[in-house]
Amino acid sequence: MKAILGGIEMKNKKLVMIPGPTPVARSIQDQMGRETVAFGDADFIKDFKEALDDLKEIFKTKGQAFVVAGTGTLAMEMGISNVTKEGDKVLVISHGYFGDRYAELCQRKGLQVDVLSSEWGSIVPVEEIEKKLKEKDYKAVTVTHVDTSTGVCAPIWEIGEIIKKYEDTILVVDGVCATGAEPEYIDDMGIDVLITGSQKALGLPPGLALVFAGEKALERRKSLEVIREYYMDFEKWLPVMEDPSKYFATPAVNMIWALKAALNIIKEEGIENRYERHKKFATAMQSAIESIGFRILAEKEHRAVTLSNVLYMEGIEDIEFRKVLAEEGVVVAGGLGEYAGKMFRLGHMGNIDYHYLVSTISAIERTLHRLGVADVLGKGVTVLTEMLMGEPAKGRS
Ligand code: PMP
Repeated sequence: MKAILGGIEMKNKKLVMIPGPTPVARSIQDQMGRETVAFGDADFIKDFKEALDDLKEIFKTKGQAFVVAGTGTLAMEMGISNVTKEGDKVLVISHGYFGDRYAELCQRKGLQVDVLSSEWGSIVPVEEIEKKLKEKDYKAVTVTHVDTSTGVCAPIWEIGEIIKKYEDTILVVDGVCATGAEPEYIDDMGIDVLITGSQKALGLPPGLALVFAGEKALERRKSLEVIREYYMDFEKWLPVMEDPSKYFATPAVNMIWALKAALNIIKEEGIENRYERHKKFATAMQSAIESIGFRILAEKEHRAVTLSNVLYMEGIEDIEFRKVLAEEGVVVAGGLGEYAGKMFRLGHMGNIDYHYLVSTISAIERTLHRLGVADVLGKGVTVLTEMLMGEPAKGRS
């Protein structure tokens, strides 16, 4: 689809504001374009090792990081496959579509799955989780840090505190839409397994599955002996992740270089600053969106910083809205599940700056204007800019 901005055709200039993949910074793109070397290349081995060390340091774990070619779904499967065996009881906390995906995946594996689901937009109260844990002996609990279908952020600190009391229960957190934006201090939070993907808040293209496993999870893996999964087996990958000169399956050379570049961006920014930036951007974007008449699905106190799930107002047709918005230069995603056609999902995570945010809100305003739904030109942009700059415009209170 072509974007026609001000009568000029802007080829490849549309902003990708979906909840992943997110805009890829030039320094990361450059790594993708490098000539691929042998995976036994000494410099590559060093880069791979450094990337793994950086991951552990940034996300605060003494455990092991695994980086393999794949997507977030593979990481989900890898996470649960290494800590459970057929017949084990598993509790899935679901705040939407991706929580439900974890439940389905666990059922396929022959696990005995109980699901605690919330209404879309709210969370499962932690008391309910606590109650459930007292009833049965769960080998693992899964929770989606940010469910991309609802924009709800789970209270990981609180859930982690509860699960720490259960020595035989492994906490698996799906951080696909959170890692690198929502605070994740793996060991302190009691996260035994954190799984994530490359294409969201880390700002890489899609293609890497990342899994962190703490001591408790690695011990559990050992106790399972031979597992059915081959490519996903921690035991197969452990020697490689400890010493990347070893071979198990071919590493995605250019993606690992790209990961290293992405981690350099994070280190330069500082992970705490990055968490703060995401919070500031999200608050400003969400206020701007509400100021032009939209509602956001997630309850305010449980809203993610990575994306906003925006409910359409009367008179907007999903496909047409997203088509006109794309013509105005911004691509957003549609709703999932029951909310297909009723909302759009707007990503605001990763390596983005004010330009992306201001352009996005302005393009949404122009779209509403063109559709004849609301005349709010400049309104959201004013709210957004004031919040980003931390002060009201002169002459306003
Ligand atoms: N979990 C969450 C929370 C996600 O948002 C996604 C992707 N949108 C996935 C898992 C699956 O990741 P992938 O599409 O990379 O397989």
